[in-house]
Amino acid sequence: MKFSVLVFITALAVGLSIGLVNYHFQQSWYYLIISFGVSFGTSFLVFYYLLERYIYSKIKLIYKQIHSLKLGKDLKEALGEYVSSDPINDVQQEVEEWAGAKKKEIELLKKQEQFRREFLSNVSHEFKTPLFAIQGYVETLQDCIVDDPEMAIKFLKKAENNIERLSYLINDLDSISKLETGEIPINYQRFDFVPLVKEVMEILEDKALANKTKLIFKDKYTAPTMVYADREKIRQVMMNLIQNSIKYGRENGSTSIKLFELHDQYLIEVTDDGMGIEEKHLPRLFERFYRIDSHRSRKEGGTGLGLAIVKHILEAHQQTISVRSTPNIGTTFAFTLQKNNEPLLNYGKK
Ligand code: ATP
Ligand code: MG
Repeated sequence: MKFSVLVFITALAVGLSIGLVNYHFQQSWYYLIISFGVSFGTSFLVFYYLLERYIYSKIKLIYKQIHSLKLGKDLKEALGEYVSSDPINDVQQEVEEWAGAKKKEIELLKKQEQFRREFLSNVSHEFKTPLFAIQGYVETLQDCIVDDPEMAIKFLKKAENNIERLSYLINDLDSISKLETGEIPINYQRFDFVPLVKEVMEILEDKALANKTKLIFKDKYTAPTMVYADREKIRQVMMNLIQNSIKYGRENGSTSIKLFELHDQYLIEVTDDGMGIEEKHLPRLFERFYRIDSHRSRKEGGTGLGLAIVKHILEAHQQTISVRSTPNIGTTFAFTLQKNNEPLLNYGKK
């Protein structure tokens, strides 16, 4: 309700009451009108002055402050000293909206804070494990280097493995932070996806053989599957997905890579028939350091950063990745890539 209407109704009520009381005692319409007019006019002026001075102007100030806080300084300046025509009503609405937005902001900050804490403790834990191992091996080495050179070589090898693990960890963390800050540019190029799959399969051939995993990529994929992406980074994506399928697959199992043509994208699926992933883990799978069986993952040399990097790479390409899995049946990771079917002649003119 508008402020002046509010004052008007109050003054009307006072005027009418005094007028009617007057009529009751005087029994004269003349006195009723006079007393009504005078009391209505006086109370309107007094109420208007008092409410404006002590209440309304303060509400207006509160409204202005909330309004400018909500808008931010620049926009506020651009709009000038905007005042609503009905601040009493608006202030309630603005406070509700403002409180809602602040609540959301606080929740987000709390989540980020928890994420930061978890991340720090994960990082220190991941670094501590190999570092303590190296420390142990070096100490033992000092004792046995003269008496038992064979044993010393064994410990040296173990220390070396842990140093390697540390350097993987640092490299992975480095790539994630660079991808996040956009420091690693995406070098888009047009390339055929089929040879890339074959290349990755060849690199991982020995690993697959050691785990008795059969890598399947059907012969039907002979026609060029031209995509528009950063080849090196997509190679990294395929490396991690196939490597995971081998690591977490079962013995004598298989991994198949399939391509599907969508409207302006290709869908790539990497499916294994391994241990699978319980549903409760799926939403957190792409988080940094998230591992379901950390013991097994660590034994396999994993840092738990692989899928986080994969997701970052695909998001930087404005593409998506999803996972579906059934425990003891298998897991499928599916991601999209931008199709590029322009004739080769046009390439480079873009
Ligand atoms: P890294 O990739 O850094 O060497 P990692 O393989 O352990 O280490 P991610 O690739 O991020 O890390 O995978 C995270 C976790 O998800 C794994 O530790 C594993 O528990 C689970 N996971 C990933 N792929 C599969 C899969 N194909 N089947 C079952 N579990 C999987
Ligand atoms: Mg991995």
